[in-house]
Amino acid sequence: MATVSIKCPNCGGGLQFDPAGQDYECEYCLSRFTQEELERIAPKAGAEPAESNGADAQAGKTAQQQESFQEDGESSDTEQAKVYTCPSCGAEIVTDDTTAASFCFYCHNPVILQGRLEGKYHPDYVLPFAIDREQATEIFFGWLKKKRFVPSDFYGPEQIEKMTGVYFPYWLYSCQVDGRLDGEGTRLRVWQAGNMQYTETQKYDVSRSGTMDIDHVPRNALKKADKKLVERVMPFDTRTMKPFSMGFLSGFFAEKRDMEREQFQAEVEQEVRGFAADSLKSSIGSYNTMNIRSQEAKIRGPKWEYALLPVWTLTYKEAKTGTIYYFACNGQSGKVCGKLPVDTKKLWIFFAQIFVPLLAALLAVGYLI
Ligand SMILES: [Zn+2]
Ligand SMILES: [Zn+2]
Repeated sequence: MATVSIKCPNCGGGLQFDPAGQDYECEYCLSRFTQEELERIAPKAGAEPAESNGADAQAGKTAQQQESFQEDGESSDTEQAKVYTCPSCGAEIVTDDTTAASFCFYCHNPVILQGRLEGKYHPDYVLPFAIDREQATEIFFGWLKKKRFVPSDFYGPEQIEKMTGVYFPYWLYSCQVDGRLDGEGTRLRVWQAGNMQYTETQKYDVSRSGTMDIDHVPRNALKKADKKLVERVMPFDTRTMKPFSMGFLSGFFAEKRDMEREQFQAEVEQEVRGFAADSLKSSIGSYNTMNIRSQEAKIRGPKWEYALLPVWTLTYKEAKTGTIYYFACNGQSGKVCGKLPVDTKKLWIFFAQIFVPLLAALLAVGYLI
């Protein structure tokens, strides 16, 4: 399986994606390149990776600023016992089964494991980091300031060095929902005249229907990921996602998914239907009584897409108890969550977060009998 480094066209050093400028920086000669420039100079570096093999690497050294090394032996999709070689220094690269982008332990150049981003694992989208390491560190200290009784190991220099930018794999679910609701509502009016009390009951046939576009409901697709860590930094604004390109991963870690969309299908559909039903109900207005006779939510055009989304993470293992604490920061918005030795006790209204990028168009009709 091939490994890839995005190389500087000037000096051949490892290029890294820079979130602040949304472009690429060479840490050796300090040149900067935009995505477009890289694609022009070395089409393979930025755009869709083509099939790479040993011959490619030979020919590519001068013309394309990308080097590929083919691993000896078979290149199957089974990930165990794979040996990867650093394209820059030739050292062996040690990875987990799900690692898709990492760094060489010896020469510290960014390395992308192209084979883990191909075929059915080729992401549809990537949401590039917008927050760089420096900003993430600032956000961390800002967040920490509000906490008390935090052991100093948690924010010592050694610990801060472990701040890691990771592209986590997510499934994104989109669909349209046709919702309909029929019911009977009553409104009462009570008044007095002389000794008499009058009650007027007005009955209304209430019907609501509408179509909703549900865009990109996210589901984390990595088993080993700390669920709280990857869910509580949501939402991501998926409108700024880019079609996947390997270059964005350069200088970060990236994980490959190990959960398939079938695992989430039933649960997401139920959630989407429930949301549609609630939206219709909340559009009804006020009646003294409301009897819902029938309702339905039909899902049309369901679609799953595979995306890599950016999160800064910092984990800390308390020596005494072995408890793992963490800090996570949305790499796009800077939204923070974490678990500290002092509990934050903050609960999140999960529902609202998930459905941020949602547009609801409702048609409302009420008939007076
Ligand atoms: Zn350079
Ligand atoms: Zn190396």
